[in-house]
Amino acid sequence: MADRDGFIWYDGKLVDWRDATTHVLTHTLHYGMGVFEGVRAYETPKGPAIFRLQDHTDRLFRSAKILGMDLPFSKDDINQAHLDVVKANKLQSCYFRPMAFYGSGKLGVAPKKDDVRIIVAAWPWGAYLGEEGLEKGIRVKTSSFTRHHVNITMCKAKANGNYMNSILANNEATADGYDEALLLDVDGFVAEGSGENIFIVRKGKLYTPDLTSALEGITRDTVVQIAQEQGLEIIEKRITRDEVYSADEAFFTGTAAEVTPIRELDRRAIGEGSRGPITAAIQQKYFNIVKGLDAEHEHWLTYVK
Ligand code: PMP
Repeated sequence: MADRDGFIWYDGKLVDWRDATTHVLTHTLHYGMGVFEGVRAYETPKGPAIFRLQDHTDRLFRSAKILGMDLPFSKDDINQAHLDVVKANKLQSCYFRPMAFYGSGKLGVAPKKDDVRIIVAAWPWGAYLGEEGLEKGIRVKTSSFTRHHVNITMCKAKANGNYMNSILANNEATADGYDEALLLDVDGFVAEGSGENIFIVRKGKLYTPDLTSALEGITRDTVVQIAQEQGLEIIEKRITRDEVYSADEAFFTGTAAEVTPIRELDRRAIGEGSRGPITAAIQQKYFNIVKGLDAEHEHWLTYVK
């Protein structure tokens, strides 16, 4: 990732990609206290457009507030930084990584509070769980790692340190030949994927876990709105793994993962073991919206001009 042409927005300036570095004594590198986002821009008939940019920036600031981190830039600055990196890198579609972290000002556990650095990087990134996964569905394994307890790390913050748990789960699942992990909460109920929210479909109704220990996904919210518009009933409730086993359909949602069908959990085929019809309809609508082909949802797009 480090050796590329291009520019990264770093503390208010566009710097050369290869110069966007930080010292080895960077606080966040040691302890994981930082916040970030994952955002996407898609190619549309009117040029590249960033999907739900303001919502992502709002969540970045909420995450920072939860961790007690003061960000030295405004939301408008961060929004503008996204536009700047698309233009500077001449991208048509991309994934963005905004991140705020503590610098190398001090290395005790308590960071130097006014030493917050921010980057916004962007690069082309295809389907996170593979093109085939989008079409045929992925194979998922229930993780032996439990999702965060609500009073240990903060589940509503998209915080760097939270992802150690995600990586443990994802590594375990992929080493065992699966595509992704499903994490359960401390009480054994379904929480989320390592980087996705989950939905199941049963008898034409959509179910998704409440957000007690899952991230408040922006794709999740998008899917809820799409489903409501299509007249589908959505129920937020505690879900057990056996409810997923016996669901008619299941899918993951996330900015990176988009809407990815789950065809198997723990070697049990879900429904027909392929992308189900409700998943397919929601996925199609989602891609139409993000690609600027759905006039009713254009308010979610920020065009890069
Ligand atoms: N849960 C976790 C743990 C995630 O990392 C993500 C990706 N940001 C999501 C859910 C989905 O969130 P979003 O739809 O906002 O990308």
